[in-house]
Amino acid sequence: MIIDLNGKVAVVTGAGRGIGRQIALTLAREGVRTIALDVRQDLLDELGSQFAELGYEGAQYICDVRDALRVTEVVREASELFGRIDILVNNAGVASGGVVESLSEDVWDANMDINLKGTFLMCKAVAPIMKAQGAGRILNAASFAAIVPAFGSAAYASSKAAVKQFTRVLAGELGPWNITVNCYSPGMIPTEMNHFAELSEERQNRLLDTLTLRRWGSKDDVCSLICFLASDHASYITGTMIDVSGG
Ligand code: NAD
Repeated sequence: MIIDLNGKVAVVTGAGRGIGRQIALTLAREGVRTIALDVRQDLLDELGSQFAELGYEGAQYICDVRDALRVTEVVREASELFGRIDILVNNAGVASGGVVESLSEDVWDANMDINLKGTFLMCKAVAPIMKAQGAGRILNAASFAAIVPAFGSAAYASSKAAVKQFTRVLAGELGPWNITVNCYSPGMIPTEMNHFAELSEERQNRLLDTLTLRRWGSKDDVCSLICFLASDHASYITGTMIDVSGG
């Protein structure tokens, strides 16, 4: 099976670092003109330099996915730049936590606003463009936390469970226009978000023992799923959440 994404146009949120950066680089390597969004200009500058060095086609825009006006503006600019948007990856996310009794409203709101509302605002802005094209692929970052009740994860887990259901509903709304909407659900992928490098060896080993495949996931494991879901091979898959979690 050959995955051919050459010539497509993608928008990736939270593309400054971590999994999002790898998604942006992987799509661009596959010939996708990739527009990377993030809240941090320093990270976008680094990514822009990588794109230039590798000869990849794309653009980087500062965009906080919570900001409805900015989202609308950036999506319009992005669609004008390359004339279309074939793929939207809603990767931007935060994972701040705490047990419910001591969880602040600010932490709760940050999880809901970035993970859930940000996904909603991006989809709302991109949907009319994909409808006019009669095709599109929307991929939303969920998490194993949407299913597993990890201690102290109420805010993050609730936001990701909501993303899962949002995805199912949106898939039904956009299906008639040949637009698929799916979630990808990473397991434990070492990044700065989960402070993986700071975990003790004992804690790492205990976590590893819970994984069926007994190895950590990589950003590339997630990217393989993204490329598949964005491709023509996945044209009959919608409204679902696919784990990339090592079991
Ligand atoms: P990360 O913290 O390394 O990267 C997140 C990126 O999103 C950063 O570049 C950050 O600047 C950006 N961002 C944060 N707030 C933003 C906002 N308001 N608007 C735009 N961009 C914003 O995280 P990661 O580990 O690469 O995770 C990426 C996605 O995958 C997240 O949605 C996360 O919940 C999900 N996920 C990660 C794991 C994991 O183990 N790393 C597991 C399950 C799900």
